[in-house]
Amino acid sequence: MSTLTSAAEAARRELGAGFAGQLIGPEDKRYDEGRAVYNGMIDKRPALIARCAGPDDVVRVVEFVRDRDIDLAVRGGGHNGAGLGTVDDGVVADLSLLRDVQVDPEARTVRVGGGCTWGEVDRATNEHGLAVPSGIISTTGVGGLTLGGGLGHLTRRYGLTIDNLLEAEMVLANGERVRASADEHPDLYWAVRGGGGNFGVVTSFLFRLHPVDVVVGGPTFWPVEQAAEVLSAYREFLPEAPRELNGFFAFHTVPPAPPFPEEIHMRKVCGVVWCFLGSEEEAAKAMAPLLDSAPEPLMHGPHSMPHPALQSAFDGLYPHGDQWYWRADFVREVPDEAVRLHARFGQEMPTLKSTMHLYPVDGAAHDLAPSDTPWSYRDANWATVYAGVDPDPENADAIRKWSIDYFEALHPHSSGGAYVNMMMDEGQDRVRASYRDNYDRLARIKAIYDPYNMFHINQNVEPDQG
Ligand SMILES: Cc1cc2nc3c(=O)[nH]c(=O)nc-3n(C[C@H](O)[C@H](O)[C@H](O)COP(=O)(O)OP(=O)(O)OC[C@H]3O[C@@H](n4cnc5c(N)ncnc54)[C@H](O)[C@@H]3O)c2cc1C
Repeated sequence: MSTLTSAAEAARRELGAGFAGQLIGPEDKRYDEGRAVYNGMIDKRPALIARCAGPDDVVRVVEFVRDRDIDLAVRGGGHNGAGLGTVDDGVVADLSLLRDVQVDPEARTVRVGGGCTWGEVDRATNEHGLAVPSGIISTTGVGGLTLGGGLGHLTRRYGLTIDNLLEAEMVLANGERVRASADEHPDLYWAVRGGGGNFGVVTSFLFRLHPVDVVVGGPTFWPVEQAAEVLSAYREFLPEAPRELNGFFAFHTVPPAPPFPEEIHMRKVCGVVWCFLGSEEEAAKAMAPLLDSAPEPLMHGPHSMPHPALQSAFDGLYPHGDQWYWRADFVREVPDEAVRLHARFGQEMPTLKSTMHLYPVDGAAHDLAPSDTPWSYRDANWATVYAGVDPDPENADAIRKWSIDYFEALHPHSSGGAYVNMMMDEGQDRVRASYRDNYDRLARIKAIYDPYNMFHINQNVEPDQG
């Protein structure tokens, strides 16, 4: 019997009949499907995958690993680029069975299980013409995205996902179940709004909802050769645009499929992916200053659609299992030299799915002060991500190299840190740089709730030893 198999056997005996969910070890038929995470580059072999059926199962798993000093990874949607939802030789607390979504349209809140993905939440809330600000791909997990911050199409109007988090029900490292909110454990409530999975397992989230039903969404594309001109116009335009308008700048290769016109299939482009809250006429007015100052686009596609349709627009292009390697930064401005470098790297995208996104983090995200939540870059105007993506492992080196070269060239023009949800395993200095002055406070709260760093498979905040 292999070491992994015997560890799984021991866990089965120990967790045994009281465990309501599924226990999957290396000998199990479901093991390969169970250990796979979104990023195909990550290939880890846990000793046990514990699919928890409810908070009591989570408590059992936490107590089991605590008594044995085994590594514990907590998995929400499994989307993390660095593969932080799994671990070699340890136990994965897989929350994918915790998928309950309860909308309260009167109170304008939604309670969401810790293993939900955003598509499920968007569909349930859209039935009431409501939404939580989240990310741009519906298969991303609510857990990791929320705990790291959460930015997407609604950021400029309604803030980050954490700015709309009212409560988190959690299992702590000592096995205790608590609620973190403005009234209960306010220090913990502060910490989970950006501090990642460092403080415990969140079994359910309570979010504030906003009136978002039909939006005007879609891309405008220009030839990649015009990137310098378009980006120069965009960097002036976006910070002045109304909050109802969100538009992230992007490099893409046009996929060879509808709704894109055949004549631009497989063409490298730069573009803006829009989301406007209002009518098509109002959207055209809000976008006009950019469209009037930039060259004639190849395609201008924004139109009215239900919010969940925009939220899932990228899903087909980016399925589970592709190879991903990305780097990220926050930026306050995009100076001329940065524009020149972006234009160069955009033209050098190594594969069809590789991309760069420059996500706005201004507007409502600036309404909070840097110390109001751990997400300290409230003064940044954009979060950049340089993502090398391809289905073929043969191209792993090429996408990794492009992403790192791009990052290293642009990093001198950044604010220093990055959005933790878009980082790889980049070391402790980088985690500190991303939390800036908030790091020490996070470390003190970590020392209270997780003094032995049980929750360390994440962008780790080490407990303050002082
Ligand atoms: C294709 C793609 C698109 C993305 N788009 C966006 C975007 O638009 N906006 C954005 O903000 N981010 C985006 N991200 C980044 C995303 O927020 C992170 O990858 C995030 O970590 C994913 O969360 P998850 O639950 O799916 O990940 P997992 O891999 O399951 O977990 C990631 C981390 O969070 C912890 N965690 C997860 N759930 C819980 C929980 N319930 N309790 C405690 N800890 C938990 C895990 O332990 C781990 O450390 C995207 C990622 C991908 C791959």
